[in-house]
Amino acid sequence: MFMPRSGLETLKPYSVEEVDWPIKLDANERSTDLPPAVKAKVIENLRALPFNRYPDISALSLKTVIADGFGLTAANVLIGNGSSEILEALCFAFGGAGRSIVYPTPSFSMYGIYVKLADSQPVPVELNADYTLDADKLLTAANQAAASIILLCNPNNPTGTIIPPEQIEYIVANTKSLVVVDEAYHEFYGKSSVDLLGKYTNVAIARTFSKAYGLAAARVGYLLAPEEIAQTIGKVLLPYNVNALTLATAKTVFAMRQEFAASLAENSSERERMTAALSAVSGLTVYPSQTNFLLVKSDNAAALAARLSARGIGVRDFSTAPGLAGCIRIGVGTPAENNAVLEAVTA
Ligand code: PMP
Repeated sequence: MFMPRSGLETLKPYSVEEVDWPIKLDANERSTDLPPAVKAKVIENLRALPFNRYPDISALSLKTVIADGFGLTAANVLIGNGSSEILEALCFAFGGAGRSIVYPTPSFSMYGIYVKLADSQPVPVELNADYTLDADKLLTAANQAAASIILLCNPNNPTGTIIPPEQIEYIVANTKSLVVVDEAYHEFYGKSSVDLLGKYTNVAIARTFSKAYGLAAARVGYLLAPEEIAQTIGKVLLPYNVNALTLATAKTVFAMRQEFAASLAENSSERERMTAALSAVSGLTVYPSQTNFLLVKSDNAAALAARLSARGIGVRDFSTAPGLAGCIRIGVGTPAENNAVLEAVTA
């Protein structure tokens, strides 16, 4: 008789509420479509694409464009079907039975799933009460478990808080584990650990096109890593893992990334405006965010979520998740969407 593989019975499929919210602030996406000039160029390039051919087998053309942007070579870059695929592949390649993978918690909930899918042992390390990281506590846990990977999310989802780059370097310099920095929200923050690639052999950086670059629909992310690490992870990726339409689209967006500067500036000023306005509401605490979302702790999270959903505003309720009691994550939207949030909260 056929049975699921052992371990799968305890895994819950990733599920988010599929509601067509009039104001959708639940998935940390860019709140508007691509800048018009970028969208026009994407469509022009897609029109010229031969749909009958398989994509570049190793996505070389996109890898080269990205590598050039960082002064690296194509051999340092991997392209994934979302950064999700890259993070999972990394666990397959460097995790495995009997190996441990360390990551702070609360953080991106999928880390624990990828670790388990790779038959590895999850070692979550609790963040401090203000969601800062105790680097020595993390290093002790990694050393004790002889972890093969340390996964750090910077800035962190869903807290929005950061790990200062000096602290990341301290971790990289003081461990034998491979330290992977998931910089999915990097563009909203500005600082990066990419420079560590030139100094250390045990570090890799994951990025995505799904957030600041508005390509959540296309599913594409990438990893920057020392050549040997990239080559090893490449072994567990399927051939043609990213389709040609997505590769062409990401290439155009990466080449035109300056076009996103105005929206990033607006996100930053709207985030500060929302942080100040929500912090002034009694019963709410807003954590300092360097992303395109805010983690808001409420005395009555259920009532807050109900007020928002009654006005058609979709947010992510984390109030029952470990380490996030009373917390709701609200995306920073357009100024009009943010005003709607403030009206709902203060009405
Ligand atoms: N890392 C983090 C921290 C995220 O928040 C997300 C998306 N929610 C991802 C990775 C995955 O993004 P994608 O697969 O769309 O690139």
